[in-house]
Parts: sequence; structure tokens; C-alpha cells
Amino acid sequence: MNIKDGLPWENQPWLLDHLEIGILVLNHDQKILLWNRWMERHSGLPAASVLGKTPGQFFPELAGSRLEGAIGCALEHRLASLLSPGLNVPVLRLYHRPEHRHTDQRLPQLTHVIPIPGTPKRCLVQIQDVTASTRRETLLRTQSARLRDSTYRDALTGVGNRRKFNETIAAEFRRAIRNKSPLALLMIDIDHFKRYNDTHGHPAGDACIKKVSNALVETLRDSGDLVARYGGEEFAVILPETTLEAARLVGERLRAQVESCTQQDPLGQVTVSVGVASLQPHIGTDLSQLIAAADSALYCAKSLGRNRVQTSDDAS
Ligand code: GH3
Ligand code: MG
Ligand code: MG
Repeated sequence: MNIKDGLPWENQPWLLDHLEIGILVLNHDQKILLWNRWMERHSGLPAASVLGKTPGQFFPELAGSRLEGAIGCALEHRLASLLSPGLNVPVLRLYHRPEHRHTDQRLPQLTHVIPIPGTPKRCLVQIQDVTASTRRETLLRTQSARLRDSTYRDALTGVGNRRKFNETIAAEFRRAIRNKSPLALLMIDIDHFKRYNDTHGHPAGDACIKKVSNALVETLRDSGDLVARYGGEEFAVILPETTLEAARLVGERLRAQVESCTQQDPLGQVTVSVGVASLQPHIGTDLSQLIAAADSALYCAKSLGRNRVQTSDDAS
């Protein structure tokens, strides 16, 4: 740094005190030689009470911390360190406001520890309040998680969409091969839905799709099974580690729930047909086999009169 003639030497403490950054200087014994006003404000400790003492006397958490190691490195080996807030819990008890002192809301801190050239050995510890960038990062992370979640969710019903179905079934299929366990799939289609739409209009049709979706989700609540909207008025339910018979019972519960929850509906009762398939895949088995089997069981349920559950062995 160049200080041009005209800036008096006695202004320099003033400058240190008006920096929006914490500055402390330690001597070779780690005694505090400088403690600027930012440090006073955020620690609640006036310079007069800390000068000539070691930071460990005020900040017991310093013992064994990375910051303590960094100070040692700077004083012993003249090595600088940067301690970022993402990787290190804020060691020093520094707060935005005095009233936070009894809480655990410490300032997120970005700390530089720099050896000061010359003899005797001394080091400079510089602390930045990175609240704003930490907040921004948290916000961005939340927004990106929300965005990612929305790409896997069906906008009308809130259940998984086709993309979620495709990825989940592929992952479960691989898991079933690894674990040598059965994987079941239910295809569920609303009966005579075209007629419902034509009679009551598209918005009522949408509300009906939502109602059916809610009935499926409610019935499967607390299980690890996935409900997805496969397309239009058709849903798919993935049931890991489930045999054909167990899957048929789940299908029957879902069918009965849709039937009973729409029983009193002023627009008329709604029913679904369910196709059930289960297989224990091994290397070389094609995932499309399971989907085709559930599909043809659904087709069979439709042709046998609808509002029923058919298994793939019935369908073949
Ligand atoms: P089936 O019992 O054989 O399944 O007969 P269906 O009338 O239910 O089947 P079809 O495939 O003939 O008609 C499905 C109807 O679903 C036609 C389409 O307009 C309607 N549909 C598909 N997606 C939506 C949607 O998102 N909202 C609404 N309201 N209707 C939809
Ligand atoms: Mg239909
Ligand atoms: Mg359909």
C-alpha cells in the first residue's frame, strides 16, 4: 500500500477503527496487540479489556479449533490461512447485536490469518461478516431445490410426473435385480372419463383427476411406494419388494377407496380399473416387460367390465 504524503500517521488508528471488518494483531505469545472497533462492537469486549491477553481467554471454543491451528501456523511457520464459513462453524463469539449474545446466532465468519513480516513474529487476523452472501447462497440453494422438485411433479395433482415415474422405476428395477426381490407395478385408469369430461366439462374433469390422485396418495400414505401420473387420466404406482398377490391387494384397496370416496359425489361416482404386474428381474430382463404386463392387465380389467383389479397372470 502506498500512503501519499498528507495522510497523517495519527489517522491510521482512526482508519482501522472505521473498517467494516474485524482486525486483531497477535504477538508471538498470542497476546492481543490490536483489537479494532469492529471487534469491540461484535464481541461486546472493549479493547482495554483484551489488550495484552490471549484470545483463548475470551473465546474458550478456540482451543483445538482450525482457527487456533491457523494462528499457530502463521506464528510458527509464517503460513497464511483462509477459513471459509461453509466449512467451519464460526469459532469466535461474534454477534450482529449485543442482544444476540445469549443466543447461538453467531456471525458467519470468513477469516484470514496472515503472518506479519519482520521480527518478532506477529500475525494479523482479519474477520469478515459474510451474512449477506451466506443468506444469498441459502436462498439460491432453496430455490434450486424447489425448481428441481417441480420438474418431477405433476402440476395438476402434485404427485410425481412421467419423468419421476421413468427415473424411479428404472432405479427400482436395478435395485430389484441387485436384491433379487420382486418389483410390482399398478396401472390405474379412470373409467369412462371421456363421458365424465363431456358431461361435466374439462374443469370438473380436472377436479376429478385430483380427487382420484388424492385418494391414491391417502391410501398409500406412510409406505415407500410411489404414485405418479402416467398421463391423462392414468396413474402408475410402483411397489418395491412386492409380490403379485400383495400388489393385487394394494390395487384392490385403491380401487375400493376411489369408489367409496366418490360415492356421494353430486357429479356421480367415479371408478378406476387396475392392472397389476410383478416380476423378479435379473440381469437381461427388460423393464418394458413389467410395464407391458401391467398395461395388458389393465386392458383386461377394462374389457371385463371396469371397476376391477386384474393381475398379469389373469391377463395372459
Ligand atoms: P376407459 O374407461 O376405457 O378408460 O374410457 P375413457 O373414456 O376413460 O378413456 P378415453 O381414453 O376414451 O378418454 C380419456 C379422456 O381423458 C379423454 C381426455 O379428454 C381426458 N383427459 C385426459 N387428460 C385430461 C386432463 O388433464 N384433464 C381433463 N379434464 N381430461 C383429461
Ligand atoms: Mg380411462
Ligand atoms: Mg386412459
